[in-house]
Amino acid sequence: MSLYRIFRHLRRVGQVSIGTAHNRRGEIKYVAACAADDCGWSAEYDDPAPATIAAQGHRCPIR
Ligand SMILES: [Zn+2]
Repeated sequence: MSLYRIFRHLRRVGQVSIGTAHNRRGEIKYVAACAADDCGWSAEYDDPAPATIAAQGHRCPIR
């Protein structure tokens, strides 16, 4: 499971979903989160562009 619960999905890059989510402090961030169950990779950003770049750069160990 991912750390984040995306509530508004924007796009998908490979196995990575990009959307908006609340972080642990309740702030709304753009989040890139891998959909592979055993991967769990995720990262948060202030803008969608770096989230997309991070998603494109994610080398998922789960295939
Ligand atoms: Zn992954």
